[in-house]
Amino acid sequence: MNISSRFRRGTFKYPRNKANNNMPPAPVTSPNSSIDSLLNSMGKLGGSNVEDDIASQMQVRRPRAWSYNVEEPPLLPPQRAEDEGRLTVVLDMDETLLHSEFNTDDNNYRQAEARQTAKSKSDFSLRLVTDDCEETVKVHLRPKVKKFLELMDQHFEPILFTAALPVYAQPVLDRLDTKRIFRTRLYRDATVTYRGEQFVKDLGLFGRDMGRIVIVDNNPYAMLPQPDNAIPIPSFFEDKKDDELEKVAKMLMKMKKMKDVRPYLRKQFRFREQVDAMMEWN
Ligand SMILES: [Mg+2]
Repeated sequence: MNISSRFRRGTFKYPRNKANNNMPPAPVTSPNSSIDSLLNSMGKLGGSNVEDDIASQMQVRRPRAWSYNVEEPPLLPPQRAEDEGRLTVVLDMDETLLHSEFNTDDNNYRQAEARQTAKSKSDFSLRLVTDDCEETVKVHLRPKVKKFLELMDQHFEPILFTAALPVYAQPVLDRLDTKRIFRTRLYRDATVTYRGEQFVKDLGLFGRDMGRIVIVDNNPYAMLPQPDNAIPIPSFFEDKKDDELEKVAKMLMKMKKMKDVRPYLRKQFRFREQVDAMMEWN
């Protein structure tokens, strides 16, 4: 079964984000409302405080300014000369490129998610020592991840975006990405709260053509604002036969020259409908 058919069949289930102790009030908009319809409604709102109006409509608290606040610089610098015109591929870390096991998990280094415990031997381990705690992290790499990153480097503009904290993510990425292929690494402080969900990744803040950007993530909540740019990937824990990155690579190569990837991805995953349904269940 390929990944697109798995999602089309509606078997895609994901638990709600857990680290929601400081959750803002539930959004007052209909669960079916999308970022597009909100943007369309901007004209009707009028006035100079459009962002405030929309924010209060949705009752979301965003640590960063809205994507259309021109005063806020984009999360990414302009494309490098050698990357000009390339498709931007935003890659999640945990359970997308690798899976980590912590010896205590008594920390806030990464987003709380439903995870399986790996029983097999890890690919490498790290010792993290901070003022607050000491952790041993054992890292399981998703099969073919190195090859996948090489391909990203050759054909795309790869960006790493994790909701984890740099204190954990940085040393792990230094071991994974020894050739420094990620043009930019983004961490938790670049995420936003959106429709009541924390740690959401808003591609609208990237300063890129929205037809030429893709996000690959195992957490559907991370991709709420732009579901038509999403490639949802099943979570990886330790399966040595996992071949999801190969499937994603094939799909990305198909999209490499597309002027606008969104109609293609919409057809592949129908993720917008799934996201709306998912928000209704909550
Ligand atoms: Mg993840």
